[in-house]
Amino acid sequence: MVIWVADAGGTNIRVGLLHENKLCAVEVIPAMANLGLREAVKRVAARWTYMHRQFSGRQVPATAVGLALPGIVNPVSGRIYATPEAKYDDAPSKNVGRLMAGAGISHAFWCNDAHAALAGEYRFGAARGVKNAIMVTLGTGIGSAVMINGHPLTGEHGLAGNIIGHSTMDVFGARCECGNIGCAELYASTWRLETLVKGMDGFRKSALAAEGVIDYRNVFRHADHGDSLAMRLVEKSIHVWSAVVCNLIHQYDPELIVIGGGLAQQHRRLLPAFRAYVQKHSWAKWRIKIRKAALGNNAGLLGVGALAAEKRN
Ligand SMILES: [Zn+2]
Repeated sequence: MVIWVADAGGTNIRVGLLHENKLCAVEVIPAMANLGLREAVKRVAARWTYMHRQFSGRQVPATAVGLALPGIVNPVSGRIYATPEAKYDDAPSKNVGRLMAGAGISHAFWCNDAHAALAGEYRFGAARGVKNAIMVTLGTGIGSAVMINGHPLTGEHGLAGNIIGHSTMDVFGARCECGNIGCAELYASTWRLETLVKGMDGFRKSALAAEGVIDYRNVFRHADHGDSLAMRLVEKSIHVWSAVVCNLIHQYDPELIVIGGGLAQQHRRLLPAFRAYVQKHSWAKWRIKIRKAALGNNAGLLGVGALAAEKRN
């Protein structure tokens, strides 16, 4: 039983084949998300067809197909309500099933990427067997997904528990691209980082001013070398992410919080800080586990594959 899976991000799309719940092939292709979902589906379908032929030596249809996407996706109706700015902008106006059918694909399932990642960690990774778990993805933005009593929380439109990064941290703060005010991502996220850094006192004297690319990898590296601005920024970012974790605990009462996304590489620095903040500031006076994601960048592929197979059965 081969399942075709893809996890469409803003920069890259991970395309894979799952066989007996194991990834037997993964390719990363440029997302070109500004060209829209229709184009992405065409290119992904071509990769699946090629990879399947390479894997099995013949062309047979996939048993199931799973696609994880950024944005607000209703996992029951399949309707896409919104995507991040300039990424797959055509998606809300398209019927994804029809797009897939147009690319020769049937039996497709699609869902939000954070829901897919949590499903992967729940079945095969850091949240295995934990029925009340939350996943926080610290990547370009701050994503989240919530599982209550073993069921993904979705709400009426798929939004529930899904965009903690666009919850208000400061009601008197700036207006965010999403339309809300003072969102967490405005104070600590990769997409906002350059604006943040350049707006801080002492930017010109900071080693970051000489960097061609301002990303968290550089910020953490310069903080480790004693750069004052980088150190302040690291401290501030960790403070914001800690508050995000604490808010999620107060809202959803989890047993476990899994930290994923590219910034989870900093887990030795982040996790102790999150635990200390929660212990100090949370009303929850019992122990809440906070762990690094176990499946890395493949959590979404494994999760959406498992969900697609369930739907097919
Ligand atoms: Zn926002």
